[in-house]
Amino acid sequence: MSYHRLLAELDLGFTRLRNRVVMGSMHTGMEDRFWNYPKLAAYFRERASGGVGLIITGGISPNREGWLLPFGGTLSSVFDLRNHRLLTQAVHEEGGKIALQILHAGRYGYQPFVVSASALKSPISKFKPRALSIAGIAKTVRDYARCAKLAQRAGYDGIEIMGSEGYLLNQFLCPRTNRRRDRYGGSIENRMRIAREIVERVREVCGERFIVVYRLSLIDLVEGGNTWDETVQVARELEAAGVTMFNTGIGWHEARVPTIVTSVPRAAFAALSARLKTAVNVPVIVSNRINTPELAEALLADGAGDLVSMARPLLADPEFVLKTAEGRTHEINTCIACNQACLDHTFRNQRATCLVNPRAGRETELVYRPLSGAHAVRSIAVVGAGPAGLSAATVAASRGHRVTLFDAGATIGGQFNLAMRVPGKEEFSETIRYFQSQLERHGVDVRLNTRVDPAMLAAGKYDDIVIATGIMPRRPAIAGIDAANVLSYVDVLRGAPVGRRVAVIGAGGIGFDVSEFLLHRAGEPLPIPRDAWLDEWGVDLSVRERGGLKPPALVQPPRQIWLLQRKAGRLGAALGKTSGWVHRATLARNGVKMLAGVSYLEIGARGLKIARDGVEQWLDVENIVVCAGQESLRDLYPRESAQGKPADTGGPRYHVIGGASLATELDAKRAIREGAELAAGL
Ligand code: FAD
Ligand code: NAP
Ligand code: SF4
Repeated sequence: MSYHRLLAELDLGFTRLRNRVVMGSMHTGMEDRFWNYPKLAAYFRERASGGVGLIITGGISPNREGWLLPFGGTLSSVFDLRNHRLLTQAVHEEGGKIALQILHAGRYGYQPFVVSASALKSPISKFKPRALSIAGIAKTVRDYARCAKLAQRAGYDGIEIMGSEGYLLNQFLCPRTNRRRDRYGGSIENRMRIAREIVERVREVCGERFIVVYRLSLIDLVEGGNTWDETVQVARELEAAGVTMFNTGIGWHEARVPTIVTSVPRAAFAALSARLKTAVNVPVIVSNRINTPELAEALLADGAGDLVSMARPLLADPEFVLKTAEGRTHEINTCIACNQACLDHTFRNQRATCLVNPRAGRETELVYRPLSGAHAVRSIAVVGAGPAGLSAATVAASRGHRVTLFDAGATIGGQFNLAMRVPGKEEFSETIRYFQSQLERHGVDVRLNTRVDPAMLAAGKYDDIVIATGIMPRRPAIAGIDAANVLSYVDVLRGAPVGRRVAVIGAGGIGFDVSEFLLHRAGEPLPIPRDAWLDEWGVDLSVRERGGLKPPALVQPPRQIWLLQRKAGRLGAALGKTSGWVHRATLARNGVKMLAGVSYLEIGARGLKIARDGVEQWLDVENIVVCAGQESLRDLYPRESAQGKPADTGGPRYHVIGGASLATELDAKRAIREGAELAAGL
């Protein structure tokens, strides 16, 4: 396939972008602390050397009121310039371009100085904002302009004004949050006034030869959002005020419609960017759930945009563009939109990284050095081709070690082969495809259908043996657990027949996934087609009504499911911050009964007998599906010494990673990271 549109230069008159790939803004956490700027520079350098056309930084506030978090990244004085120059220099040395995103959080700020259009508290911050006075608005406009000018002095090629996702400018734009009666509230002309003044002022101080991207909310997905006609009116005004191009924003953070998790169909909202493109005369950047070069190229061909924004996909693979240009797209480490190591980290105030690429954000710390001099080639056996083993094998081989990878199964991927059967998680297969390409590229000797035993390991005379054999599903001690109506999640995901009334024991990630799997009707296409998904979540892309919302389509679930856990409290509380609510909403909409504080008493022909609050009852179900966690499978790991290490017998060095090491709270993020860290040090 040709990617000539994606790889084509874009001539903006005063400057050129080397291709149409924009690395969208992603808050990494490193922006907020000056001592992390060298790390941030290394992170951006790697993406620029991987060929990205334009990088947009994480959000930087123009003043204290705009902080997302206390002492968040701010560019408001010449003393900040030194740090920012590290970033611009790194990107320019690699031939890239970089724009600073100016983000004023408004009422989304999680700090006491928050301001907004009106004094209305947001549902996602405990701090009530103060309504900006007219003088406060004028100061805010000046602060944006000062920030832009400083960005220019720091060497940025431009700025992006964050006007979407429910942040300050979006709060002014929409009646939901703007109840003002002065010239900044009421009509759309008034509500957009602050945005227009900012763009005009930025142009005034930065001149014509400076990129000004405006990220415009094309669909707010909240009640009291704007209509499409209003959005077009705003876009035209801002274009006239001096915007170089528009980036696409989708949905406020407080919206109850998912916009980027893995179950959102790819490019679900691209039709909106296409419509905007017909309404303005400057380039439009299309975004949201675009993660492959094929899709990006197709969107450009279809006129959905002039450029394509990908944020997380560039976290997952800094060489996305390079691999595309070199015809190595099968080698792209595709972002699976899990949010587990990026957005979920950000929400927990941890540095963002990536589940499939543990080097992201740690470029200076996790280094895969090719073998040289003192480091001899080692012969390494990796047992288990799940995420942990694959990560260890590919990193070790990429450094020059001789690696043999064994798996008892017929395919590589371990539990990801089950995960990808869950509706909305189909893209987990991309990770298996990526690892397959790396095994081939680095010449790993792969032995499938081979159950390893100690004798085989002894015969192989390996220098290192990596035990990555994963887990065994836990079988809880409940009377009747061996009955024929009891299934494990492995049976179910592999296609065992399941009745119409089902109890699921265990409400961790897998209990939720299995419930979603059981809600899928046989014969319905997967992944779920875009229009069906939009109907299900009540999204109207015509945006005739405010916010683009419509009543969600009513669903008739194919099964009655009871999802159960022993502990008290909300089910799914341990799921990811940015994805857990989507799973809970999906199950609730499909009538799944979620019960906490359950004791399992007995399994019989009638179903499952439980007790809750001292009351016993039978759940009349045809099947009971066990999703009660897992236990490590590590028979091949030698008996440990008192220090927790295998006794030193003078033979090969043993290592244990992933589920084999610790099954509790295991996820693929830890499995892949442990494999990479081990292999980086061998
Ligand atoms: P495994 O993936 O279990 O791989 C172990 C491999 O070792 C297997 O292929 C097995 O065949 C092989 N093996 C075992 N014994 C031997 C032997 N003696 N000889 C040769 N080979 C052997 N994690 C997330 O982070 N996010 C998710 O959204 C997510 N969703 C999931 C959904 C489902 C339905 C499931 C089942 C899991 C999900 N997980 C998810 C969990 C994730 O898949 C695991 O954490 C991860 O696979 C663990 O990797 P691992 O390499 O340690 O073990
Ligand atoms: P888990 O998250 O540890 O959940 C296990 C569930 O089983 C819990 O609800 C637990 O709750 C219950 N349980 C534990 N011991 C039990 C026993 N003896 N009898 C009955 N119930 C018992 O494990 P998992 O769901 O198997 O998932 C494995 C890993 O995969 C997870 O750590 C997760 O990170 C990862 N994963 C992630 C996602 C995701 O979307 N991010 C999706 C799937 C899997 P009670 O003890 O309260 O009953
Ligand atoms: Fe994508 Fe998941 Fe990596 Fe985030 S952590 S960049 S969502 S693969």
